[in-house]
Amino acid sequence: MQLTVASGKGGVGKSSITASLAFLLSKNREIVALDADADTPNLEILLNVKEWTEKKPFEGERVALIDSQKCTGCGICAVHCPYECIYPEDNHYRINEILCEGCNVCSVVCPEENVINFKPAVPGYVKWGMTSYGFPIITAELLPGRPNSGKLVFEAKKKAKQFDCDLLLVDAAAGIGCSVIASINGSDYVIVVVEPTEISLFDAERLLKIVDHFRVKALAIINKSDVNRDFSEKIEILFERKDIEVIGKIPYDRAVVEALIKGKPVVEVFPGSPFSKAIEKIASTLEELL
Ligand code: SF4
Ligand code: SF4
Repeated sequence: MQLTVASGKGGVGKSSITASLAFLLSKNREIVALDADADTPNLEILLNVKEWTEKKPFEGERVALIDSQKCTGCGICAVHCPYECIYPEDNHYRINEILCEGCNVCSVVCPEENVINFKPAVPGYVKWGMTSYGFPIITAELLPGRPNSGKLVFEAKKKAKQFDCDLLLVDAAAGIGCSVIASINGSDYVIVVVEPTEISLFDAERLLKIVDHFRVKALAIINKSDVNRDFSEKIEILFERKDIEVIGKIPYDRAVVEALIKGKPVVEVFPGSPFSKAIEKIASTLEELL
């Protein structure tokens, strides 16, 4: 069973919610957490990973290299590179490896033989370790400026499948990019976290189109629901019409910030807080559903 927590907009409290759900759901079942927010993975901090058991480079791409001894400096490759990553240096040209997408165009247009070659590149890592709560976490970690976040998340999911568990809980990236698509694909449920603002709803509706495309059952959580009650109700009615169950409304709670400062799940450090009470109800609903 795979449950993915996602949000169209960033900063709506998705990781705080995921960390608390992981903490609660792990009490009654074998779970594996997966941080699929490859650009900014940070679930490991909230779930207290002390050390990684394994950190494997993902060799999913290649970058081009110009042999400066053989390059005549004609500049044809620089004109045709679709990513504008080739630049002149002295009397030849060089490639900015961080920008290179390995598309091969430069090597096709170069009039000289064997000037441009390719080498494997590591866009990121798949790592896993035990959380302080007794269940494993797998993290997809993209290196700065590298593409292929979707492939990296796919690799991380492959790693997660090696663990025997009842529930794979995925913390997806915000937005609707490749890594989000890789997270949603194969899910049994996607929880869309939304705040009661026009911007958050707009982004959530874009995300829901992807969820719908993959024919995954969508659920919703309205976070900070009390900061704009009328709009929260509007979202609920809107989602009901789309057959999306709102499984919880979480009030604004300063305890979330305090828990972030402590680097722990809210439900662990502030169990009686309004946030925690709402999350406990959501976890009970999920227990019945999953
Ligand atoms: S492989 Fe593609 S992206 Fe990389 S330098 Fe050549 S043309 Fe540019
Ligand atoms: S096209 Fe070939 S020879 Fe010309 S600048 Fe590029 S690498 Fe050098």
